[in-house]
Amino acid sequence: MNLSSLSASPASSHPLALYGWDEEWEAEFASYAEQGLLPGRVVRVDRGQCDVVTPVGIVRADTAFVTPHDPLRVVCTGDWVAVDPAGSPRYVRTCLPRRTAFVRSTSSKRSEGQILAANVDHAVVAVSLAVEPDLGRIERFLALAWESGAQPVVVLTKADLVPQAVTLSYLVQDVETSAPGVPVLPVSARLGEGLDVLAAVVCDGTSVLLGQSGAGKSTLANALLGEDVMAVQATRDMDGKGRHTTTTRNLLVLPGGGVVIDTPGLRGVGLWDAGDGVGQVFSEIEGLAAECRFHDCAHGTEPGCAVRAALDAGELPERRLESYRKLLRENQRIVAKTDARVRAELRREWKRKGAEGKAAMEAKRGRWH
Ligand code: GDP
Ligand code: ZN
Repeated sequence: MNLSSLSASPASSHPLALYGWDEEWEAEFASYAEQGLLPGRVVRVDRGQCDVVTPVGIVRADTAFVTPHDPLRVVCTGDWVAVDPAGSPRYVRTCLPRRTAFVRSTSSKRSEGQILAANVDHAVVAVSLAVEPDLGRIERFLALAWESGAQPVVVLTKADLVPQAVTLSYLVQDVETSAPGVPVLPVSARLGEGLDVLAAVVCDGTSVLLGQSGAGKSTLANALLGEDVMAVQATRDMDGKGRHTTTTRNLLVLPGGGVVIDTPGLRGVGLWDAGDGVGQVFSEIEGLAAECRFHDCAHGTEPGCAVRAALDAGELPERRLESYRKLLRENQRIVAKTDARVRAELRREWKRKGAEGKAAMEAKRGRWH
């Protein structure tokens, strides 16, 4: 296959167009194309290696050149990369700047960000209607989604379990109130209802499915992908030596267009420094707060408080304000912990440098004596 003719073709007819390659990526990649590097999208990562879909098929590449100390800059599923076509093993030479990124805290004790997925356009938050939706939990997922830079969408799954249409419309309204700027789609995979609307949302760009276990994510993924797509795409892959392999991919092409990323750990996520995301979930409260007389109003007993006025008028549910405060506090704790971690790392670094300096001095003195 002639690579130069590939890179000269318009982005829409590019072999990677199915994977989301567009003119912006093309422009971003131009200088690497001149160096003879292959563009590709990471469909899977595991310990120092990744599978990259390129114009010449799936290649396995080593990430040693692009593994920085910062865990947030490690290559992840969804990244666009430049791969050196020559050499065995092949190497990823660079990772193109991300448009969006999903990050989570790895554990509550050791607060450290972990990059889960890159270049995601739609964050689909699945919420089951088998029980009354937990609005606080939805807000938490939405904060994370907004923070990533992706556009959130709430899918209310198992709509067939809601006995009456009027109840369903109230539930949708409740969730909409908790999700300004977010489409809320009721769907029933069992009855096949609402799936066309969801398919239209995800047919363009890259999507991820988030939500609690049991929310119906796998069922949605299967409905969007068609039953055999996972198996077919897995067996079609080739490894670096041109053999067929059966490794699973975490990034799949949807038959109706678009791409879905499903990586372990991404589905049920914790907040990670999602300060801006929290602000977007509660945009109506932040809008009201801007109207408060005092810039640092705590919306308690201050005079001229627009938030309290909205509460008193019944325009803002008390629950929303409480949830907002809870998520802000939670986020502050995470940020504070991160700061402590960063400070501890710096101290270790200084100590190490100090010790190295001392050793160097002693070595010199040793030579002089
Ligand atoms: P996940 O853990 O989020 O991937 O959830 P699953 O997709 O495995 O679904 C959890 C359960 O909900 C399964 O027993 C599904 O059969 C069921 N389920 C999924 N979608 C629907 C639906 O539209 N209607 C009903 N009644 N049940 C559903
Ligand atoms: Zn106020």
